[in-house]
Amino acid sequence: MSFVPYDDRDGWIWLDGSFVPWREAKIHVLTHSLHYGASVFEGERAYDGVVFKSAEHSRRLHRSAELVGYSVPVSVEELGRIKLEVMARNGLADCYVRAFAWRGSEMMGVSAQQASIRTCVAVWHWGNYFADKMKGIRVTLSDWKRPSPETIPSAAKAAGLYMICTMSKHKAEAQGYADALMLDYRGYVAELTGANVFLIRDGAIHTPTPDCFLDGITRQTVIELARRRGYEVVIRHITPEELPTFSECFITGTAAEVTPVCEMAGIAYRPGLITETLMNDYDALVRGRLGSPAAA
Ligand code: PMP
Repeated sequence: MSFVPYDDRDGWIWLDGSFVPWREAKIHVLTHSLHYGASVFEGERAYDGVVFKSAEHSRRLHRSAELVGYSVPVSVEELGRIKLEVMARNGLADCYVRAFAWRGSEMMGVSAQQASIRTCVAVWHWGNYFADKMKGIRVTLSDWKRPSPETIPSAAKAAGLYMICTMSKHKAEAQGYADALMLDYRGYVAELTGANVFLIRDGAIHTPTPDCFLDGITRQTVIELARRRGYEVVIRHITPEELPTFSECFITGTAAEVTPVCEMAGIAYRPGLITETLMNDYDALVRGRLGSPAAA
């Protein structure tokens, strides 16, 4: 496999208040969040020099940190400026943006009351999240379930919640699938390992209630776009037994954007007009060729 490791690239990264050369943006091995999983992060995309829903992502970063028990020491407004400056310093207008925060190295027990909070913003070029995006992806069913909100703050985009996502994704890839659908702790359809899911039947779009997984910013955007088109959107609990009753399926996420699904949990789907329409509307919106759905 040939790829350039993320720690061996050229460019600039913003770390705790200053711009540092890419290869020097390092942390110590005895970093609390590396051991205990409470880093929080955002995945964003910039299109034509504009970070799509930048403030929403920064607000979610702040909320995620509050949910796991700390405050991000950089304001939403500052983060907005920093993202644009990191992009400019790296000469990128169309890129992925990763803003994140974590507990530092002052304490190494479970308690981290005195640990400093570190913040970083990095950007890089990232094309389609799925190699087969336009063909439609094949998705298997994960063995892992999204946990109850009484077990972990499931609305946070926090590192610990991704451990089972990576395990699910690895198993799916080993079996030749692009990704895995995760059910939730009650057995309802939840989400993929890094994206939300939508299912279509008789012209209506159904998507699970996000009560124990991330209510994606792309998910919310696509719901608005669909309603603006006059499509019915039904937000409800969906059981896996219902999966064969749908004809179309697509997933949404910042990295995945709107990606058609041609197979999920053993059921074949045929990407159709609604998926195509919403893919095109999302593309037009992020590139500023369509007004904001909220303004419609
Ligand atoms: N669920 C998970 C587990 C994710 O990692 C993501 C990507 N952030 C999403 C859903 C979609 O969220 P968004 O549309 O805000 O990127």
